[in-house]
Amino acid sequence: MALHVVGNVCVDDTFYVDRLPRPGETVNAVASARGVGGKGANQAVAAARSGAEVVFRAALGADADAGFVRAALAGELPLDGLAVLDTPTDRSTILVDRTGENIVVTAAASAMAFDPAGFPVRPGRGDYLLMQGNLRADVTGACLKRAKDRGAVTLLNPSPLGSTALPTADVVIVNAVEAEALAGCTDPAEAAHRLSRDGAASVVVTLGAEGALLLERGEPRLLPAPRVVAVDTSGAGDVFAGVLSGCLARGLPLFDAVAIGVRAAAVAVTRRGTLAACPSRPEIAGLINGTSRDLS
Ligand code: ATP
Repeated sequence: MALHVVGNVCVDDTFYVDRLPRPGETVNAVASARGVGGKGANQAVAAARSGAEVVFRAALGADADAGFVRAALAGELPLDGLAVLDTPTDRSTILVDRTGENIVVTAAASAMAFDPAGFPVRPGRGDYLLMQGNLRADVTGACLKRAKDRGAVTLLNPSPLGSTALPTADVVIVNAVEAEALAGCTDPAEAAHRLSRDGAASVVVTLGAEGALLLERGEPRLLPAPRVVAVDTSGAGDVFAGVLSGCLARGLPLFDAVAIGVRAAAVAVTRRGTLAACPSRPEIAGLINGTSRDLS
């Protein structure tokens, strides 16, 4: 059972600031870092570190940034699913303040031009497909439908939210802001019910320090996060979605997969960076073993 992660990858330039600048203001960073990001890549790496067999599909340009991305991902994932397009490799600028709050701007020409329809390796019966909101909506909808028609289980984390018309997926993963925008209500359980009625079999709403709400077979359950001191929440949602999907593809039940995702993401917020903050393979293996014991 392979987990196909189809989405974006980009170079992240992160600037740590005392406080986020106001419009028109310039502030000096206290530190900065360059790394690989993009919701697709972040989630693919988190899934691979969870022990799943991951097929990662995303687009790069033919430029120096593409070489940086390949070098950074080489030890994490097979890279034969990366397409090279006639566009610049995507880039993000991320500002993180002292409280861990962040803002992000992305140049996304490669993601916008990417259509994986012709790729020979496709999710089939018994496989899983995980997508995000970075590709064009028509491409995302078509990939999910093709995978479903071929018998795969589909997961969608529709972030960044481009439209409120959600394509159909077996598991929808949203944060509280997205849940409200999509469902039109602030109560996470009611929002999950509404999204489930819209065609999603199961809905997961992440609630930051509160953990996550899982709606499965019509029953909402809250999975609380451990108490931690958060220093940088950027990428927490990606660690959550990637670990959840990786655990599912390894055959764990959805409830256990959500529980492990909550704990892995709580570890990530105690560290700086996006990919740099993602727990390692041994750390996630420890969470999987510990969670199975707790739940048995
Ligand atoms: P981001 O956009 O910052 O990556 P998000 O908005 O997509 O995150 P959140 O709901 O904020 O998603 O967080 C995802 C998961 O990260 C939560 O379900 C929880 O497991 C963990 N998490 C986030 N913030 C905290 C916190 N302060 N303490 C413990 N866990 C946290």
